[in-house]
Amino acid sequence: MALSGLDIFKKLPKTNCKKCNFPTCLAFAMQVATGKVEISLCPDVSAEAMAQIAEATAPPIRPITIGTGENELKIGEETVMFRHDKRFEHQPGIGVLVTDEMDDKTLQGLLERFNAVRFERVGVMMRPELIAIKSLSGNPEKFKALVKRVVDETSALLVLMSDSPEILKAGLSLCSEKRPLLCGATKDNLDHVAQIAKENNTPVVAKGGDLDELADLTARLSSSSVKDILLYPTTTSLKSRFEQEVMARRLPLKNNLRALGFPTILFPSDWTEDRDKEVLIAATFVAKYAGIIILSNLEPHYLYPLFTERMNIYTDPQRPMTMEEKVYEFSNPDKDSPLLVTGNFALTYFLVTGEVESSKVGCWLAIQNTDGLSVLTAWAAGKFNAESVAKFIKASKIAENLSHRNIVIPGYVAEISGELEEELGSNWKVIVGPREASSIPSFLKQWQKS
Ligand code: SF4
Repeated sequence: MALSGLDIFKKLPKTNCKKCNFPTCLAFAMQVATGKVEISLCPDVSAEAMAQIAEATAPPIRPITIGTGENELKIGEETVMFRHDKRFEHQPGIGVLVTDEMDDKTLQGLLERFNAVRFERVGVMMRPELIAIKSLSGNPEKFKALVKRVVDETSALLVLMSDSPEILKAGLSLCSEKRPLLCGATKDNLDHVAQIAKENNTPVVAKGGDLDELADLTARLSSSSVKDILLYPTTTSLKSRFEQEVMARRLPLKNNLRALGFPTILFPSDWTEDRDKEVLIAATFVAKYAGIIILSNLEPHYLYPLFTERMNIYTDPQRPMTMEEKVYEFSNPDKDSPLLVTGNFALTYFLVTGEVESSKVGCWLAIQNTDGLSVLTAWAAGKFNAESVAKFIKASKIAENLSHRNIVIPGYVAEISGELEEELGSNWKVIVGPREASSIPSFLKQWQKS
C-alpha cells in the first residue's frame, strides 16, 4: 500500500540531523513519498522501516538496467497508463536479432548496419541500442564465437538468447562485465538460469505462454533473489499479446500486482516475415508498452519513423524541449559578426540555426532561457523582455568578443527594442530582425554588405 509523506515521517528517526542533505526529516519524507529520492539516503532509519518504506514507495513497474556505465539502457519505472496522465519514463530499447546459423554475409551486413544507422532530430541522436544473439545451433562454441564477434565489432548492449543454461553461461563468459540480458528463464530451466543470473548480477527474461505462467516465474525468480526481470509472453496470437501488454501495465499500476511489475520484451518477427508488417507491429508496441523491441533487420527507412514515434511518445508533455542558455557560434564568427538573440525552445533554436547555417554568414546566436517557451509566448509571460535579455547578454560577456554593440532581436518582440537599449546601456543599438526564420539568410547577407 502506498505511504504518504506523514506515514514515512513517522518511521524516520526524527533527529533532523541533515545527513540525507535535507533540512528536516519531514522534508525528506515528503520527497521520498513522491519517489524523487530513495529512503536509503537516511543512514539512521531502522532496517525494518527501510524495508517497509522501500517496498511501499517502489515504482509499480521495476526499473531495469541493461549494460553498465555510459553504455546502459534503463527501462521500466513506469507509473501511468497514458502519457497525458504524467509522462512515460524510459523509452523502449530497439535492437536487431542475429543467430549463430546466419551466413557470414548476412551477419556482417547487420553488424555494419547497427554501427552505421544514426539519425539526429532536434539535437537528439537516435540509434538502435541492442543486439540480441540467439543460439539456433545448440552448440555452445558456435554461440561463443558469435558473441565474441558482436562484442568485438560493436558497442551494442547484449541480449543472450537460448533456453539452454549451458549455452547462456558460455556466452556470458565473454561479456558478463557488460551486464547483458539473459533470455530466458522458462518453467523447465528456471532454477539453473536464476543461479547464473545471480552469480553474474544480470537481468533475466521470464519466458512463458501467458500472464499467469509469467507471474509464477517471476515469483520463483524473486524468491531466488533475482529481482531484475523482463516479461516475454510467448503467445502465438498478436491480439492476445496486445491484451497481455496492456494487462501487464494495468495490473501492477491499478491492482498492485507486483508479480507482473516488470518491463516486457517483444520480437515482432514472432508474428510475421513481412518487413512492413513487422515494423507496424513494432510501432504498435512502442505506444503500448514494450520495454525492448528486437527487429529482424535495421533498414533506415523503417527505423526513422519508429525512432521518431518513440521520441515523440517518450517526450515529457509537461516539459518543452529546451536548449542550454548560452551564446552559440556559427560559421566561425569574428568580432564583426552579428549577434542575434532568441528563446531556448528547441524548435525555435533548430528553425533559427537551420537558416543561420544555410546563410553561411558567421554569427553569434544568444539563446536565453525562456523555460522552453517560444519567443512570443515567453514575451507574454514576462520571460523574454528587455530586462531578461539585457541581464543574460551582460552575464554572457559576449561584448568582449565584438567590435560593435549591435544586437538583433526577433521581429515579434520589436516593442522591447527601446527599453532593451536602455537596459543594455547607451552604446548598444537594438536592431529588429525578421519575424520568420525563413527571412534570416537574406537579413544576414544584408548585414554582411553593410
Ligand atoms: S538523515 Fe534521516 S534522521 Fe537525519 S534528517 Fe535525514 S531523514 Fe532525518
